[in-house]
Amino acid sequence: MEKTLIFGHKSPDTDTICSAIVMENLQKKLGKEAKAVRLGNLNKETEYVLNHIGVDAPEMINEIEDGQEVILVDHNEFSQSVKNIENAKIKMVVDHHRICDFQTSEPLYYRAEPVGCTCTILYKLYKENNVEIDKKIAGLMMSAIISDTLLLKSPTKTQEDEKAIEELEKISGLKAQEYGLDMLKAGTDLSDFTANELIALDCKVCSLKDKSAKVAQVNTADIADMMKRKEEIEESIKNDIEKDNLDLFVFAITDIINSNSQVIVLGKSSDIFERGFGKKLEDNTAFLPGVVSRKKQILPVLQENA
Ligand code: MG
Ligand code: MG
Ligand code: MG
Repeated sequence: MEKTLIFGHKSPDTDTICSAIVMENLQKKLGKEAKAVRLGNLNKETEYVLNHIGVDAPEMINEIEDGQEVILVDHNEFSQSVKNIENAKIKMVVDHHRICDFQTSEPLYYRAEPVGCTCTILYKLYKENNVEIDKKIAGLMMSAIISDTLLLKSPTKTQEDEKAIEELEKISGLKAQEYGLDMLKAGTDLSDFTANELIALDCKVCSLKDKSAKVAQVNTADIADMMKRKEEIEESIKNDIEKDNLDLFVFAITDIINSNSQVIVLGKSSDIFERGFGKKLEDNTAFLPGVVSRKKQILPVLQENA
């Protein structure tokens, strides 16, 4: 059996990857054996981060053996986790999401805080354990916070995230504004992804009462540019709805410069979206001014109106 494995959610984002690496480092500094892994391909933003900071990507895994010891970061819902998670021994969770369908057979260490990023909690864990944050670790933490809070512009951002960034800037030697914008922009270069890849890049499965839904999100600096691919994206979404027997699929194209989103919504339960946002979909699409956070501004609205 492998030593304790640390991983974030499927369709990994920058926080999920950086949190796994940062947690591996913390465990080692505390004298424990653990290894960061990932559950999917890196997105371009995360690739940019790892290249810039000079850190290797964690190894990819697809499933785990029964009884494998694991540490979960940046997620807790089993539907977003590794195959066979039901039979793992979950030792620890560090997360900043709602807790949903979570069950273990043994006691565990569970740390959840409603902050903007898992790395903000990890930053605090380093402090609490008197573990020094080195330059690379600081860069990874800062990148994750910038990613999850869209450079501190998302409503998910808290004072703790801001405070962490301030100190991490000093340790990493990176300028948050400048580096952050380059990093976010690197993630918006989606031209060579197929429509199928686009809708899977950052996609969360969620249940809305008895309905099953997916909410996917991509970042862009130009909504109109992405909407040129609307037809092929719709085709992919329709196939995915069919394949996974979904009631609703929301695809959010988020403008990271102006902090708005354009959504493409399909599925027989599209009325949940229309009720929730008080908007009629026109040609399966709608504009949501000021909406950038799936977690705070989209998922709760769907959940309340299902
Ligand atoms: Mg995440
Ligand atoms: Mg996160
Ligand atoms: Mg995200």
